[in-house]
Amino acid sequence: MTSQAQGSADLVVHNADFVITVDKDRRIIQNGSVVIKGNSISRVVKANEVTQEELAGRVIDASGKIVSPGFIDTHIHTTKQFNRGLADDVELRDHLLARNFPFEAALDEEDAYWSSIACTTEMIRSGTTCFIDAGNQFPDCSARAIEETGIRGIIARTASDLGGSVQGHLPAQLVTDSTEEMLTLSTQTVEHWNGKADGRIRAWFQVRITYLGSDTLCQEMKRLADQHKTGMESHCSSSLENRSTAYRTFGMTELRRLDKLGVLGSNFMGIHMGWVEEGDMYLLPKYDVKIAHCPASSMHAAMGCDLNGKIPMMMSMGVTVGLGSDAAPSNNSLDMIRNMYCAGIHKEIHQDARLIPAEKALEMGTIDGARVAQWDDEIGSLEVGKKADLVLINANQVEMQPMYNPISNLVYSCHAGHVDTTIVDGKVLMEGRRVLTVNEDKLLEETRRRGDQITTRAGLDHVRHSSWPLV
Ligand SMILES: [Zn+2]
Repeated sequence: MTSQAQGSADLVVHNADFVITVDKDRRIIQNGSVVIKGNSISRVVKANEVTQEELAGRVIDASGKIVSPGFIDTHIHTTKQFNRGLADDVELRDHLLARNFPFEAALDEEDAYWSSIACTTEMIRSGTTCFIDAGNQFPDCSARAIEETGIRGIIARTASDLGGSVQGHLPAQLVTDSTEEMLTLSTQTVEHWNGKADGRIRAWFQVRITYLGSDTLCQEMKRLADQHKTGMESHCSSSLENRSTAYRTFGMTELRRLDKLGVLGSNFMGIHMGWVEEGDMYLLPKYDVKIAHCPASSMHAAMGCDLNGKIPMMMSMGVTVGLGSDAAPSNNSLDMIRNMYCAGIHKEIHQDARLIPAEKALEMGTIDGARVAQWDDEIGSLEVGKKADLVLINANQVEMQPMYNPISNLVYSCHAGHVDTTIVDGKVLMEGRRVLTVNEDKLLEETRRRGDQITTRAGLDHVRHSSWPLV
């Protein structure tokens, strides 16, 4: 690009084997460098084009590395980090009602804070630079974790004014009966946090699951999201049980109800969405609805969102689909590279290996995720003027060579452990796999101790061991 301004730099990620830009032309720059000034990218060039003036600031040697835009996790529960491994290999109903919800209801505010620190730290270690939290009852804790760890993210106050459904009941702690109170708390969260931490925090409105929100709650959340020029999210069309619950409760599908209520729009993100009925699919491109698809989570809990096969059809209709990890007890890893690999499950389901090639999977994990987050004007690709959110991936490993197509190796051969350096907003958050913004020893201690305590409080001690004898 000829218009790139030169001058001094604060940081140069220099001489990478490959810089995968995901820019408009999808350029892959061999022997490339990313020049950063403040929190933004000032130039993306061949290494030999970097000036001496730019090299006078801090330089990170990226030889032997792939540089990629940071990954964007469009669905993560920051407060579910400590029930990893407590909801495996059980039916979805038990996974949620008997394991996940009781654990979540047993959290206190300090637990939620440390859970959010653990979650954001795992994301930084996995190369995730931005996330969309699913919404929880301690959004201030999720926001503090963003402030302190340096990651970028979207938070939300969870809301559900209909506590019960034919599927079962949410624990009382997770439901506040008053619709008014839910709307007030959500508005306070957005007004307090949106734009904080130098713009790294954004806040959305949320209805936990569409059928757990009254008509008024759903409509008002959408109205407030529009009024505050921000997003709205909800778990939607996640399973067969979800679909029948919506039918029995409202006499129509979740998507038709949202359409009737005026909730669908380009600032609405549906989470999971694998059970959207074929007859409703036209609504998605009509309103430019965004989707957070969680292929590994669907596999783990047998939700059927992959098997239903609708996701590639939605993509072919022009719907923007990002990837999400879901949660530590639902996946059970926050590794976005694994999620990109798992997006390939649609090849198997449709018996078509051409579906979702590696390049598309990487788009889903970066620029498409940015569009789902309604943040693609600032993140999702390595381009002049965008925020400096990027990762360095170690390519000097036998399992990463030979490297004919770096995107193939990144999506199909790599895992989170190959991420060497994570940079967000121009700041180095992890270098040489050491997270610089977190005391990881203290975090490990808190994770183990709080995990044990909450498990006991939630009455889940009986599920904390393998079915094999512990001797
Ligand atoms: Zn979720």
